[in-house]
Order: sequence, then structure tokens, then C-alpha cells
Amino acid sequence: MEVHNVALTISAVRPEQYPKDGLPEIAFVGRSNVGKSSLTNTLINRKAFARTSSQPGKTQTLNFYRVEDEVYFVDVPGYGYAKVSRKEREKWGVMIETYLSQRQELKGVISLVDARHEPSEEDINMYNWLLYYEIPVLVVATKADKIARGKWNKAESVIKKALDFDPTVSDFQMFSSETKYGKEQVWDWIEAHMG
Ligand code: GDP
Repeated sequence: MEVHNVALTISAVRPEQYPKDGLPEIAFVGRSNVGKSSLTNTLINRKAFARTSSQPGKTQTLNFYRVEDEVYFVDVPGYGYAKVSRKEREKWGVMIETYLSQRQELKGVISLVDARHEPSEEDINMYNWLLYYEIPVLVVATKADKIARGKWNKAESVIKKALDFDPTVSDFQMFSSETKYGKEQVWDWIEAHMG
């Protein structure tokens, strides 16, 4: 998709606040610092549209970006803050579970993991949770430019093994916001799932 027009439509915590126009939605999940805003900015050809690295302790909301009046990108706040209280974490969990498990417009989730590391327990839990709810998942391994090309296959197999990756219901893509590697493939996946 050639993107010219993007607007942050709404920040939502509760279902009454989600957009009401029925456009398909693709959500982006991953721990903070994994490269989520870099990926979304690459997809929409912006240097810094989605804000980079949301600050720990800031109000956590679901951010709906309307892309070309065709699809919403939904930025799900990053998990894995060490410092938030248990109460904050519970609120975050309810907000995200409510959105991911109940939203009719949600057509797929892009789950980001760092290409250099084994997925964390939270990455694994998120992946399993998405499969349980039968939500199509694209696992995107970010920062691929930080590992030598000759080690990509190994990195991919480490990630897939840790996730117990199921290729019948999910897809995998290496990605770099530095080199833009994988951008077209991620867009293809999004367009195939917009319905
Ligand atoms: P977010 O917190 O998940 O939104 O992560 P950001 O997109 O803000 O990225 C976190 C840090 O990783 C920033 O310093 C980025 O410049 C860096 N980063 C993100 N993606 C890549 C990538 O593909 N390659 C490299 N080398 N650095 C990246």
C-alpha cells in the first residue's frame, strides 16, 4: 500500500471509545523497546509518526491510527515494564484482553520479538494467547540488521522453537527498520488479512 494519509484517530481504554466506522484493524504487540514504533513508522513511511518508546509510568492506552481510510493500525502498549505496580499491570491486562478477545474488527496481530534473543516468557504467553483466541498472527523478528545474514536461519529457528511456532495458523518475517528489509512482506500480510 502506498501510504500518504495517516491520522491518530483515537486513544482508547474502554470498548465504548474504540472507533465506530467498522474499518479492519491490525494490532501491534510486543515488549517495550522491541522496535514497534520503528516498524509502524517504516510501514507508513514516516520518520516518527508513532511515538518512539512510550515512557514507563505514562498512561497506557490503545492508539488507533487510521491509515489511508482503509485500515487502523492499533498500537498496543508494550508489556514488560519492570516498574509498574501490580494494579497497573492488572489494568493493562484487562484492557488488552478485552480488546484482543472481543473486537470484531480485529483481523490480525503483528507480534514483535527481537531477532537477537530467545522470546521472553511474555512473548510466548502472548503468542499462545493469540492462537487460543484464533487470531491470525504474524511474528516479526525485529532488528535483523544487528545479526549477520548467515545467522538469520538460526535466529528464526530459535524463535520458532521457543514459541512452539504453528505454521498452519501463523506466519514469520524477519524485519529491519534500518534497512527496511521485510517491509513489503509485512504489508502483503496486512493486506491479505484486511478482508
Ligand atoms: P518500541 O518501544 O517498541 O516502540 O521501540 P522503538 O521503535 O522505539 O525502538 C527502540 C530502539 O531500538 C530505538 O533506539 C530504535 O532506534 C531501535 N531499533 C528499532 N528497530 C530497529 C532495527 O530494525 N534495527 C536497529 N538497528 N535498531 C532498531
